[in-house]
Amino acid sequence: MIMDCEQYTGKCVCGREHTLETRKVVVAERAIEHFEEYMQELGLTGKRTVVYDEITWKLTEGKHVKADQNIVLDPNGLRAEDILIEKMMKDLDSPEVIVAVGAGTIMDFGRYPAYKLGIPFVAIPTLASSDGFTANICSAIINGQKKSTPMCAPVLVVADLDIIGGAPKRLIASGINDILAKYTSLADWRMSHLVDGEYYCPMVADLAEHALKLMRDAADKYAATGIADHEAMTMAQMESGLTMRT
Ligand SMILES: [Zn+2]
Repeated sequence: MIMDCEQYTGKCVCGREHTLETRKVVVAERAIEHFEEYMQELGLTGKRTVVYDEITWKLTEGKHVKADQNIVLDPNGLRAEDILIEKMMKDLDSPEVIVAVGAGTIMDFGRYPAYKLGIPFVAIPTLASSDGFTANICSAIINGQKKSTPMCAPVLVVADLDIIGGAPKRLIASGINDILAKYTSLADWRMSHLVDGEYYCPMVADLAEHALKLMRDAADKYAATGIADHEAMTMAQMESGLTMRT
């Protein structure tokens, strides 16, 4: 599946003009083999730093994307915290684009510096256990407090199902639950709109419902057969992430 995000930008029926930093989301088997084509297509041809931790570096062995600089972080004690991210930023060799390979924590080690430096950020998720990948917030610890902070979303997401497909069952379950929670949040949003006049966008609500349907069908199939449809589950996470905007 390839999602071209242009369709969700511009003047909307809700009266607002929507913008999205994320331009393309690719979820496919061996997607990483075409990584350079996607980067070219989006004009992401500048000097490139790629961030891993030792676990994702090993996990993607033989599939490492081209880099002007690789940073491989020690996973021990690694957490998304401003002090640690800024320490890593001192080692950056003036990149024009940052690629992060990993799950939530590593994404914040790509997202945060890219936001601070005003350069694009690209995500290669190694797990799809939450819908935070395409969000434009990060939940790093900033000034000693863990909270959602506005930040940039990836311009491009390339999810290779050969890498993601190795996820353990508990993380598949976590990914399912993250999306099923949208039943509550969508109902909440509608109620606040009706009762309190809160801003509501039917296009965004439709996209969230589409993500919910994709995940619901995949979860039913998983429960019945034990086979996880990683393509549908991962795309559901990506779509859902796009609906969360500050
Ligand atoms: Zn809208």
